[in-house]
Amino acid sequence: MHKPNKSKALFERARQILPGGVDSPVRAFQSVGGSPLFVRRAWGSTLEDVDGNRFIDYVMSWGPLIHGHAPAGLVRAVNAAARLGTSFGAPSALEVELGERVRTLVPSMERVRFVSSGTEAAMSAIRVARAFTGRDRIIKFEGCYHGHADAFLVKAGSGATTLGVPTSPGVPKAVAADTLLARYNDIASVEALCEEQGRSIAAIIVEPIAGNMGVVAPADGFLDALRTLATRHNILLIFDEVISGFRASAGGAQAIFGITPDLTCLGKIIGGGLPVGAYGGRADVMDLVAPAGPVYQAGTLSGNPVAMTAGLWALKRLTAGLYRDLSKRGAMLAAGFAEAARAARVPLQVNAFGSVMTPFFTTSPVRDYDSALTANTRAYATFFRAMLARGIYPPPSQFEAWFLSAAHTDRDVKKTVDAARAAMKAVARDM
Ligand SMILES: *Cc1c(COP(=O)(O)O)cnc(C)c1O
Repeated sequence: MHKPNKSKALFERARQILPGGVDSPVRAFQSVGGSPLFVRRAWGSTLEDVDGNRFIDYVMSWGPLIHGHAPAGLVRAVNAAARLGTSFGAPSALEVELGERVRTLVPSMERVRFVSSGTEAAMSAIRVARAFTGRDRIIKFEGCYHGHADAFLVKAGSGATTLGVPTSPGVPKAVAADTLLARYNDIASVEALCEEQGRSIAAIIVEPIAGNMGVVAPADGFLDALRTLATRHNILLIFDEVISGFRASAGGAQAIFGITPDLTCLGKIIGGGLPVGAYGGRADVMDLVAPAGPVYQAGTLSGNPVAMTAGLWALKRLTAGLYRDLSKRGAMLAAGFAEAARAARVPLQVNAFGSVMTPFFTTSPVRDYDSALTANTRAYATFFRAMLARGIYPPPSQFEAWFLSAAHTDRDVKKTVDAARAAMKAVARDM
């Protein structure tokens, strides 16, 4: 890798105008050290920085790019759409078509409302759940992420209280107190909250395959038990499938595990790399949303024609072959990392699910937030830098998913595993 001189200079400039030099915190490389690379362009599985360094990308814009960077067909479709107008602020056929396609792929979504981000989707889903149930509280799981709305920036309170406390200044205590925290893969922790306060709980929101504490799959029966508990207490079950939707399978995690949530949140892949989110589900719940019902939610750029076009292009290409290839390469990568770690005697737990994975630098199996936190973030930072130096662009945090796309080849994966062998030796020397 040549020196990232232009990236360094840009970061200096950026810090004078953008808080911390970025528009989303993890991009700043704070937890892995060094300064972030500024990207000039990207194609397929390749990212090129402003200094001309090229990398095999495993961030893939944090999940949306299941077909790789800038596929030629998508670029053509987006170009053609833009020529017809970049925004209407009035209905278009594209929204209807994308909505119908979403419902075909995810049948629990009888009604769909498009928004512009996953944050908006999750925020709006709990609003309609609160309206439907006439209750204010929600249950979320430690380590799950549902965007940056106030209600979700919450951790468990200390001591006897089960009421959430804010994790960010600026989140009102009163808002945080309505969010109850449970442990992922620990159904007893959810049962206890439902027994105690079921009558004031509107929704349980969960990532059916967790991706934001690193990848953590649901334990056998966990999602089933959530469905049963929610039904018993008249609580709505919300699957946040912003990552797993169209990624775990064309029908998301709900298709794989055979669970029907009341509401689903989508984002990332649904926009094909452009800003789109969606929430939807049971018609009797979603018909409360304005103008069908009284629950207010709106958006100037919602259903944007260029973004809808990109989403349609992406969703039309979710073939069985795509998922077969992604899983095959996911398994190759996971096995390669595990083997590289064994050879270097570095403790590593590789959590993989299809085309997403996280190598956790720990001896304990990772099945919830507490066990994720046993990971050695210093070891990850060493690994990250050693991979970057070898032309691999990993997520700049231990607690993020690595994403594969249709553009990643066997050769990419092999090159990545070769780099991991050397990087694991660097980690071993540093431990
Ligand atoms: C990324 C993500 C979000 C937030 O989506 P944005 O488009 O970044 O607002 C919400 N939930 C999950 C599970 C996510 O991974």
